[in-house]
Amino acid sequence: MKIQMAKQSYKENLIKRLEEQKNTPHRFWKIAKEIYGNKKKDSIPTLIDGLMQYNTPEQKANLLGEYYASQSKAPDIPPDHVLPHYPDLQILGNLEVTEHEVCKLLRKLKTDKAVGPDGSTNKLLKMTVNSITPSLTRLFNTVLQSSNYPAIWKQANVTPIFKKGNRQDKANYRPVSLLSNVGKIFERLIFDKIYSFCEERNILTWRNSGYRKNDSTTNQLVHIVNNIYKNLDNKKESALIFLDQSKAFDRIYYGGLKAKLKAIGVYGPLFTLMCNYLDNRRIRVSLDGKNSKCFKTTAGVPQGSILGPLLFLIYINDIVDNLESEIHLYADDAVMMTSFKRNQERVAFEQLNRDLERLSQWASDNFMMFNATKTKYMVVSNCSQDMDYPELRLNETSLEKVHTYPQLGIHLNDEMNWDGHINNTINKANKKLNIIWKLRQDLPRYATENIYLTFIRPQLEYGCLVYISCTKTQKQRLESLQRRAAVACTGAFNRTNTERLYEELGWASLESRRTYYSVLQIYKMAHRLSPDYLTSLLPPRQRHRRTTDFTPIKCNTSKYQHSFIPAGIQQWNSLSVQLKTATSISSFKHRLKSEMFPTKVKHYSLGKGRSNINHTRMRLGLSHLRQQLHSHHIIPSPFCLNPNCDQKPETTQHYLLECPKYAAERQRLLEALEPYTDRTGINTLTKLTKFMLYGHIDLTTNENQEIFRIVQHFIIITNRF
Ligand SMILES: [Zn+2]
Repeated sequence: MKIQMAKQSYKENLIKRLEEQKNTPHRFWKIAKEIYGNKKKDSIPTLIDGLMQYNTPEQKANLLGEYYASQSKAPDIPPDHVLPHYPDLQILGNLEVTEHEVCKLLRKLKTDKAVGPDGSTNKLLKMTVNSITPSLTRLFNTVLQSSNYPAIWKQANVTPIFKKGNRQDKANYRPVSLLSNVGKIFERLIFDKIYSFCEERNILTWRNSGYRKNDSTTNQLVHIVNNIYKNLDNKKESALIFLDQSKAFDRIYYGGLKAKLKAIGVYGPLFTLMCNYLDNRRIRVSLDGKNSKCFKTTAGVPQGSILGPLLFLIYINDIVDNLESEIHLYADDAVMMTSFKRNQERVAFEQLNRDLERLSQWASDNFMMFNATKTKYMVVSNCSQDMDYPELRLNETSLEKVHTYPQLGIHLNDEMNWDGHINNTINKANKKLNIIWKLRQDLPRYATENIYLTFIRPQLEYGCLVYISCTKTQKQRLESLQRRAAVACTGAFNRTNTERLYEELGWASLESRRTYYSVLQIYKMAHRLSPDYLTSLLPPRQRHRRTTDFTPIKCNTSKYQHSFIPAGIQQWNSLSVQLKTATSISSFKHRLKSEMFPTKVKHYSLGKGRSNINHTRMRLGLSHLRQQLHSHHIIPSPFCLNPNCDQKPETTQHYLLECPKYAAERQRLLEALEPYTDRTGINTLTKLTKFMLYGHIDLTTNENQEIFRIVQHFIIITNRF
C-alpha cells in the first residue's frame, strides 16, 4: 500500500514537471517515457569479459574505456595509399576569427546541452556573451597562431549507452562523448572556414549527402527512387548494392587523414593545428559518478566533435573516383547502382563486379573495411518471376540478394511497393501513440498535442516524398493513425467527423501536408535551394504557356507518374501564379500554408480535464447531449430527460441556455459572461450559444480563455456529463 502511494505521488510529481516542461519537448518526452513507458533503469550490471568479472563502477569504467580506445587504433603498418589529386590547388593556412563571428555563435548556443570535461556550460556562455566575447576571441586567435590545440578540449568524457543484447557484454554499450563546450565553439569556427573553403573549390563530392548544407537523407532517397522508377518506365531493371562499411568512423587513421588534409590544401599553421587537434586525444569513461583512467585514442574521427564529420567527408571523398556505376553515400552509408535491359544483366553485373573490386582496393589503401557478409544487393524489375542473376563478389565473398532493404530509414523493396515501409512506420508510431492515450487523462491538451506534433507526426512524415506514390489504402492507414492521435488529444468520441476534428486542432491532413512538402521541394529545386543533382531532375520550363510552369514529364508507367518528380511537377503547375512567383521561400511557405492549412485557434487547446473534454465534444457536434447522440444514430430519441422539458431536444443551446434544471447555475454563468457579451454585441440565443462554444474573434486569446474557463466551470457545476 505504501509503495502504491509512493508510486502515485511520484507520478503526480512527474506530471507536474511535464506541465512545466511545455517549452522543451525533448525533456518532456523523456519524462513522459519515465511515467508511462517501460523504460528500464540504465545502470550497468557486472560486466563479464573472458573469465574476468568487473563489479565496481571503476572496474567497469576502466574495462569500457580500454575497449573504446582499442576500437580506434591506428594500423601497425600504415597503408601505402595513393592520394587524390585536386586540380587548381589553393591553400588555406592562416585563419583568424573576429569578435562578430564568435558573438554570433555564442548567441546561437543551445542551452540544454550537457557539460564537458572543463565544466563550461552553454547557459553561462550565452548569458555572459557580451563580456566574454572579446577575451574568447583573443583566446581563439592565440590558439590559431600558436597551432597548439588545448589539451582540455581534446579530452572526452564518455558515457556508455546500452544498445541491445547481453547487458553483461562490453561490446553492447555505445560510447557517447562529451567535449568541452568552449572547445566546440572553436571547432565550429574552424569547421565553417574549412567547409566553405571546400565548397568554393568544389572539393567535396556531391555524391556524399551526409553533413552537407541543403542536403538530406530524403533528398538522396528521392534521387535514388526516382532513378529506379525512371528505369522501370524505360523497361530497364535496376541493381542496387547496399554496402556495409564496418566502423568506418573509428578506422580513420591520423596519418592518412593528415595527408588528405594536405591534399585538399590545408597548409601552414592551420595544418599544424589540425595535426595537434588529432594527436594525443584522450577519453575517460564516467560511470555512476566514478571516472576511469584516461585512455589514448590513436584513430577515428573524434566522436561528439564538430570537426569530426567534416574530417570524415574529406577522408572518404575519393571513394567515388573511377567508378563506372552510380554511387550514393550518406556519411559512411553507401549504395551503388546501375541499370540494364533484360538480357544485358551479364554486362551490367560485370561492371558492378569491377567497381566492387575498385572499392575493395580503395578500402585497403585507406585502412577501411567493407563487410561483405553484411553487404546485400537487390534487383528491381518489372518481371514478377525471380530471375537468376550473375554472382556479385566483394572480398572473395558472394553477395546475398535480398527482396527488401532498410536504406536510411526507408524500407525499399524489389517490387517498389511500400507495404514494408508503411507497416514499419505505423508500428513505431503506434507505440508512441499508446503513451499519448495513457497521458491524455492527466495532461492539459496542449501538452498531449505537443507530444504528437513533436514526436509522432515527424515519424509519420519522414521521407514522405520518397514513398508518395504509395497506394490509397496505405495513405489512409497513415491518416487514420493521425486521426486516432486527434481523438486522443481532444478526448472526442470516435465517431466525430474527421474534418471537424482537424479544424478543432488546426491540423492539416497528412495528405495535404504531403502536397505542401511536395511543391515546397519543387520550389527549392527551382531556386537552387536543394542540391544540383535534384535541380537537374526538373524538366525545362514551359515555353508557350506561362514560364512559371514546367513541362509535364511523359510517363509510360503509372508508378513513375505517381512518384514525386512527375506528380510534384503537376501539383506545382496547378498552383496559383502568385504562389509560383513568390520571391522568397519564407513568403512561399507562408502563402502556401495559409491557403492549404486550417488556422489554429489557440484558446481551444487551453484547459484540461473532463470539463474541457465535454466542452470540446459539444463544439465538435458529438457529446453526451442527447440531440447530438441522436443525430449520430447512437440513441433513438433526442429529447431532454428532465421531466419539465416536455419533448424538447437536448441541443447545446438547450443545455447551455434553456433547460430549467440548470437555471441557478446559468444565472451565475451569464453574469460572468456579461462584460464580454456586451462588448461583442451578442443579442440572440443562437449567437450566445456559438459564443460559448467558440469564443469570439474580436476578443484576445486571454479573454477567450477566460470565457472558456467560465463555460467549463458551468459544465462542472451542472454535473450533466
Ligand atoms: Zn432540459
